[in-house]
Amino acid sequence: MNKESIADNHIIVYGAGKVGKQYYDFLRLLHMENLIYAYCDKNYKQIGSIGEIPVYSYNDLMDQGYPFVIAMIEQEEIETLLQKDGQVYYSNIESWIKDYRGDAVDRIRMWISYHNIGEKSNRGSEHRLDNLGEKIYEEIPALNLEKAVRVYGGICPCCKGQTLFIAFDYWLRDYYRCLFCGSIPRQRALMKVLEDEMPDWRNQKIHESSPIEDILHMFKQQCAQYTYSYWYESEPLGIKLQDDGTNQNLENLTFEDEAFDIFITQDVLEHVNRPERVLTEIARTLKKGGKHIFTTPLYPFKRTTPRIKMRGNIRELILPPIYHGNPINEEGSLVTYEWGGADFLEMIDEITGMESKIVEFPNSKENFENGLEGDFLQVIVSKKM
Ligand SMILES: [Zn+2]
Repeated sequence: MNKESIADNHIIVYGAGKVGKQYYDFLRLLHMENLIYAYCDKNYKQIGSIGEIPVYSYNDLMDQGYPFVIAMIEQEEIETLLQKDGQVYYSNIESWIKDYRGDAVDRIRMWISYHNIGEKSNRGSEHRLDNLGEKIYEEIPALNLEKAVRVYGGICPCCKGQTLFIAFDYWLRDYYRCLFCGSIPRQRALMKVLEDEMPDWRNQKIHESSPIEDILHMFKQQCAQYTYSYWYESEPLGIKLQDDGTNQNLENLTFEDEAFDIFITQDVLEHVNRPERVLTEIARTLKKGGKHIFTTPLYPFKRTTPRIKMRGNIRELILPPIYHGNPINEEGSLVTYEWGGADFLEMIDEITGMESKIVEFPNSKENFENGLEGDFLQVIVSKKM
């Protein structure tokens, strides 16, 4: 069997009855629907339409190069199945997880979730790691945890549960993930500040511009009055988007004055063309006492550096282009401003009259235990007076 040929993103769960169902539920729990190819009953008949291809016979699954997990108990049956081809087989899902070559954090998360599934399958459970006891540490070599550049246990400000924060890359800001919700440090920093500043946020009107998907789901679940928007330039402003958000240009929001208690932007302000208009619009749509809580890379001791200037509607580069990831555009977003701690808050005050402060997360045990480490972790809070 050639393990090099294992596709990382697909798995065939092949099996019947209780074990097959349990594996299937496990993968669904991890939102790994796309990884599952088929789930068949004992007579090789499909009993659930899962994944991309409905499968009725074992032969349909042959020669696809995807790893199989055989979810069966009878050894004889497994041996019959294994007689053929060069596909890679696992006799249980745990051994597949150890071989899973996708993201290492995903693999560890899968492993832990798998071990928890029999006991407390809720991802919100507070004792997920306790259930495992020493077992995770015994399994560390197989999980490649020793290759992590940072591992720290604590409570995640995003999913609120006990977790491990793990990074396999030194750029912690983007790669230091919570094992369970996948959050990264700046998201946890924002959540922490949100809880501190607006503890009743679950009952308030929140608007977020350009959320990334994971965070979007988290807010949607916890805050009934959470709304969000993306900006598709070619679409009319204010229209509902396919997925329930609205189309909004931050320079020209279609919302009424004082519509929101909280306005959130996460790493958006460094990409806007006309920050003065954006800040004015955010201030306009906030209620009195409302807060704009946001992250953006902030250079503490520098003055702000514009990287573009606008000539009418034409954006001209002043400095060579730099791009960051964008949830709705694969080409990424141009960095338009590098905000300097030395003048940014003054600028917000001059434009909007909002009173601002920078919340930082210095090295401390408490911050480590909340997974708050990495560069550019500042959260800015601007309050409408
Ligand atoms: Zn988390």
